[in-house]
Amino acid sequence: MNDAERGRSRMVELLQRQGISDSGVLDALRRVPRELFVPTVFRPHAHADRALPIEAGQTISQPFIVAYMTERLELSADHKVLEVGTGSGYQAAVLAMLCRRVYTMERSRVLLALARRRFEDLGLVDVISRLGDGWRGWSEQAPFDRIIVTAAAPELPPDLVGQLAENGRMVVPIGPEQGDQTLVLVTRNAGEFAQQRLLPVRFVPLVSHARTGRGAAPG
Ligand code: SAH
Repeated sequence: MNDAERGRSRMVELLQRQGISDSGVLDALRRVPRELFVPTVFRPHAHADRALPIEAGQTISQPFIVAYMTERLELSADHKVLEVGTGSGYQAAVLAMLCRRVYTMERSRVLLALARRRFEDLGLVDVISRLGDGWRGWSEQAPFDRIIVTAAAPELPPDLVGQLAENGRMVVPIGPEQGDQTLVLVTRNAGEFAQQRLLPVRFVPLVSHARTGRGAAPG
C-alpha cells in the first residue's frame, strides 16, 4: 500500500466508526483517489474528514457527507444519476463506481474543465458533464433514477423533482445561504412524492440565474 492508499483506508475506517455501513459506498471511497481532486496545496489534508477549498471559491464536501449522501441514494449498477454541482468531480467519481452513468452539471467553466481532466485521467468514461444551471436540471437526459444536489437550494427545485423517475430518490440540501440548511431526501413511489429531513448541513449556495431571473452568467 502506498501513502495515498493508506490515507484513504484510514479515512474509510473513520467513516465506518461514524456509522457508514454500506460496503459498496465504503469501497468506492477507498478506490477513488480523493487526493487528486483537491488543489495541490491541500493534498496533505485530502483524507481528513473535512471539507476543503477548491478553485472558484467553492468547496469539496467532507468525506462523511459524500459517503452519507451516496448511501442514502441506495444506488444500483443499472441506475442513471444526475448530479448538480460537479465542483472538483469527486462526488461524481464516487457515484460512477456504483451506477451505470452519471450526468453532472456545473456552472463554473473553470471547475468543469478541471473536473473533466480528472475524469479523463482516471478513465471515467461513464461520467458525462456539461456547463449549465442545475436548478433547471438536464431535461434532455431525464428521467433520472437518482438525483444528488451538492449545493444548497433555497427551496426544492421543481424541475429536478419533475425529472425524477418512478421509484426515484433525490438528496438535496435545502436552506438559505448563511443559515440553517437541512439535507432532504425526496422519494417518488407510484407517482407520489414524499420528503424526509435527514441532517443539518452546511453547503455553498446553488446560484441560479434561472430561479432569480437576475445575476451574471457564470465565468
Ligand atoms: N460535488 C462537488 C462539490 C461541489 S460544491 C465535489 O465533489 O467536489 C458545489 C458546486 O455547485 C460548486 O462547484 C458550484 O460552482 C456549483 N453550483 C452552484 N450553483 C450551481 C448551479 N445553479 N448549477 C450548477 N452548478 C452550480
